[in-house]
Amino acid sequence: MSNFETLASNTVLGGLIAATLYAATYLSFIRLLRFPRNWIQPSQKEVLTTGLLGITTIAWVSLSSLGPDLNCLLIATSFIVTMAFIIAAPALCFRPANKALEFLARHSEHAGLWLLVPALVVCLIIPGSKLQSMLLTAMTIELLWFFRQHWKQLNKVIYPLTPSDRSVFKIHARGDLKGFCQNHGIKELIISESDFSWRGCSKNTAPCPFNLYVNKLGLNTAPCCREHMRDISHYVSKCLLEIGAIHWLEGGSLLGAVRENGKLLEWEDDIDISVLLDEDITWDSLSDQLVEQGNKDGYFVDTFEEKGLISVSFDTPKPWPFKWERNRLRGEIRVDIAIYRRATNHGAVVLERQSPKGVMPATENGGYGVPLELVLPTAKIIFEGGNIACPHDSGAYLRLLYGNFQEIEYTYINPAAARNRLLATTVK
Ligand SMILES: [Zn+2]
Repeated sequence: MSNFETLASNTVLGGLIAATLYAATYLSFIRLLRFPRNWIQPSQKEVLTTGLLGITTIAWVSLSSLGPDLNCLLIATSFIVTMAFIIAAPALCFRPANKALEFLARHSEHAGLWLLVPALVVCLIIPGSKLQSMLLTAMTIELLWFFRQHWKQLNKVIYPLTPSDRSVFKIHARGDLKGFCQNHGIKELIISESDFSWRGCSKNTAPCPFNLYVNKLGLNTAPCCREHMRDISHYVSKCLLEIGAIHWLEGGSLLGAVRENGKLLEWEDDIDISVLLDEDITWDSLSDQLVEQGNKDGYFVDTFEEKGLISVSFDTPKPWPFKWERNRLRGEIRVDIAIYRRATNHGAVVLERQSPKGVMPATENGGYGVPLELVLPTAKIIFEGGNIACPHDSGAYLRLLYGNFQEIEYTYINPAAARNRLLATTVK
């Protein structure tokens, strides 16, 4: 008997290997979801690794010493593909998505458990198999995920809503607030006879499903999330000051600071801060120090060198193997740190970034750039109750990014939400 046949015929060992292979595929897959969440093309190496792990799992549970088992092959393949869609739905919905994916994302807390009954039926029909072991592992992971998410909801705290929050809700709901909340699965809004309040997120809960509420429905940023955004923006600014990195408030956050008198835009979905790399502050030194500091202070830091992006999130870094399960959530409160470098563009010195921002002009090097003198030396601006670094000429910087930035423009994924929202501002 060959080594493979010996292994394949050993039920316990075969089952253990099947469980390990599934768990490895799961971990690799949830790690991969960090890319769609950040609107980034996944790295080929990571796609290949996850794909190979998935194929190996399917092959292992479908092969026996007697040869391939077609039933096991079909069941394992359809189970893994279905589970992949269920798990990935929230991350895929960070971009516009079809109704099926939106539906799965909305039920992401428990959707994996829908496969529990079919999995049990298969386990009864094909007992003692490697397939059984894989299915039980998957269901255990889904049960643990569900219970942890469910228990975390108990830690929610009540926040009052501002008059603007209420007005935006009313406009979107068109007179049927309860129906609106039911339709969209908004569980946080507490409606009483005379008032509304919000069951808000904290570091001990999952964040509010930002992606749906703010980006797709056009609601105001939840009061809890606004508070955490304030916290994290000053935290990141303090870290960058300590590191000695030249940085400035960027994009929508700078727009809020300038146009809304030092406040976040009401529909803000992240904080943007930019950092200039130079001889003293390199990518490695910056990302290493931020990751180390984040681990110490309880902020999750993820780095995407190929895109020049570091994201700092308002959630405590979890130990392995739970580290990447956060990618199954529908939102996160975070600061996106975009990297700039000095470059020459048609003979002029610019600060250049790799990814587009607003209508920032493209450079001859394939990036996007702003004239150096608009940014350096940086100045200070009041932002959410504290000072934060901003470009030297914030007005000119914003004009370069957004044109007439004094005019309110909604850039939601869903155009209907933008139209409703515009109506809301005229009523306010
Ligand atoms: Zn929140």
